Amino acid sequence: MMVETKTTCPYCGVGCGVIASVAGDGAVSVRGDPEHPANFGRLCSKGSALAETLDLEGRLLYPEVFGKRVGWDEALDLVARKFSAAIAEHGPDSIAFYVSGQLLTEDYYVANKLMKGFIGSANIDTNSRLCMASSVAGHRRAFGADTVPGVYEDLEQADLVILTGSNLAWCHPVLYQRIAAAREKRPEMKVVLIDPRRTMTCDIADMHLGVRPDGDVALFNGLLAYLARTSALDDDFIRDHANGFAEALAAAQMGEADIPSLTGLSSEEIEAFYRLFETTEKVVTCYSQGVNQSSSGTNKVNAIINCHLATGRIGRPGTGPFSLTGQPNAMGGREVGGLANMLAAHMEIENPTHRERVRRFWNAPVIAEKPGLKAVDMFRAVADGRIKALWIMGTNPVVSMPDADGVADAIRNCPFVVVSDIMRDTDTTRYAHVLLPAAGWGEKDGTVTNSERRISRQRPFLDSPGEARADWRIIGGVATRMGFGKAFAYENPAEIFAEHAALSGFENEGERDFDIGGYTGISGADYNGLKPFQWPVPAQNTPLCPGGTFRFFGNGGFYTSDRKARFIAVQSAATERTNPDFPLVLNTGRIRDQWHTMTRTGKSARLSAHFAEPFAEINPADAKALGIADAALVRIASPYGEVHVRALITGRQSRSAVFVPMHWTDQFASRGRVDALVPSVTDSTSGQPALKHVAVSVEPY
Ligand code: SF4
Repeated sequence: MMVETKTTCPYCGVGCGVIASVAGDGAVSVRGDPEHPANFGRLCSKGSALAETLDLEGRLLYPEVFGKRVGWDEALDLVARKFSAAIAEHGPDSIAFYVSGQLLTEDYYVANKLMKGFIGSANIDTNSRLCMASSVAGHRRAFGADTVPGVYEDLEQADLVILTGSNLAWCHPVLYQRIAAAREKRPEMKVVLIDPRRTMTCDIADMHLGVRPDGDVALFNGLLAYLARTSALDDDFIRDHANGFAEALAAAQMGEADIPSLTGLSSEEIEAFYRLFETTEKVVTCYSQGVNQSSSGTNKVNAIINCHLATGRIGRPGTGPFSLTGQPNAMGGREVGGLANMLAAHMEIENPTHRERVRRFWNAPVIAEKPGLKAVDMFRAVADGRIKALWIMGTNPVVSMPDADGVADAIRNCPFVVVSDIMRDTDTTRYAHVLLPAAGWGEKDGTVTNSERRISRQRPFLDSPGEARADWRIIGGVATRMGFGKAFAYENPAEIFAEHAALSGFENEGERDFDIGGYTGISGADYNGLKPFQWPVPAQNTPLCPGGTFRFFGNGGFYTSDRKARFIAVQSAATERTNPDFPLVLNTGRIRDQWHTMTRTGKSARLSAHFAEPFAEINPADAKALGIADAALVRIASPYGEVHVRALITGRQSRSAVFVPMHWTDQFASRGRVDALVPSVTDSTSGQPALKHVAVSVEPY
């Protein structure tokens, strides 16, 4: 007999619905869920191969302390004792949690509650900091809240889709499929790709703008100035629904003469793009890591949003700025305060009313009084000894953080390190004093939120192997042993979700965007049967938040004190990083068939057939000048480290630049960790690292 379970793909932020079928002999197969509104049955290569990644090889099955198998009680007692001792001796800010967009919302909620409400520190940050922190900061500056205004349907209804810093074909493949299908039906629909590389996404692009790295602010500032010059503004929207236009326009006009040099684009290319935007009413601008992972990431986001506010192209079908999140639950993490600078339910840590409200709701002894350490600063604090005890959950920072070798040293030298993971041997678990086995996809039970604010269930269809447990249960076990048992006495994830929903609606009369108070007190049965839905779902309709709002901001109603959006004045500035010793620009990113550090996708032979080893995309002219032959080994170096990978000589790559994928670890390839080359340069507003603009040298190896 076949048992079918509806669940959600654990990879990218598209959040596709999946039906997992378990046959009588235990064999698992997966297919797309035709009823899920994110994908309507579609899956990409990674989603289709999910069943090939479920074997137990390499799984962490039992708790370990100093490399020896122990029982759960012994492991959790030790963690609680060490954390409590560090707090007693050095204060709450001496411990830190580094969590993951792979956690389910319920896991995230419990981790955040323990750290911010009971330990009293905000030193909890997430690998989502590497993924979308600049979008969060840009949204908060412009909208007064971290709100994605639009929905996936807008991508199909738009007459112009601009993809900037997004290789949609490989990184959000099902959205790419949806746009490609819409374009088939409506050939008049246009797609513009703004990317230094000619990626596979070019296949559906009518125009490719090979912008210089970090030329995006200049490009969109120039667009704002152009729209003003050509009288293409929506004056009514600007007057009624936004502040700060004059200052933003003045800043944009200041850099106008330098746009060709700052963007590396010809005047003709720039003019053609601007005219297309000007003359097309329905425009969606999607942005992803090429925008976010930059020292000017937040300014890029606001330069894009400025153009949409100035033309009133927001909140209506087929319009809007659209942030595409990288991970399956980056959005859910944001909703429960999984970032060091946010409170739960999108409340602000800097706001004393919000802090006191959250503390009262949790009946917590304390509440974090100030923002905690963001990811890069957190590992700096580990390195310089300020962090005495560190808990890493479901992520592999020794591979994925910038200055990855420095991060490895920091973790190695930290007095007490706990890692909860599904895998026994990763580049990070080798430095752990305590290893805690977590449940994996197919075993986990909870919710995730995708890029269009849609909350979907991940449901279990397999038993957890060995003694693996849900993350929320592990965290609750430590909290109980630290003396906070009453607040963490959850029996199941439905109880956590119900509490999360209640907090979102608590004293929320429509002044906060995130509200799923309509699910307060949801029963276990209703939670099990929960269909995918988009927030907000307030308990009662409010003027700003009528139940089932599909799009935000069509008629203003922003989450600022005067309900108006804010234009942000951003400067167009050159970002030069190269020098004679390191003359090429390194860009890092994903490939189509691997996910993060390959602990799961690396198990599928089919997925590994796409690219069997790490590579460096090099332009033919650069390869010739450097004496590099196709498929030859090359050494790529920065002042921080080096990698040895194979050359892939291709005209897709622009001159004086090189692309290396982020996935390979030293386990899969000798010296394959590309983030060892990346310095810890961050956006000063969002704290997001600049992972796509690194000065390197390239030579035959
Ligand atoms: Fe999974 Fe993303 Fe592929 Fe959908 S597009 S199947 S969510 S990896």
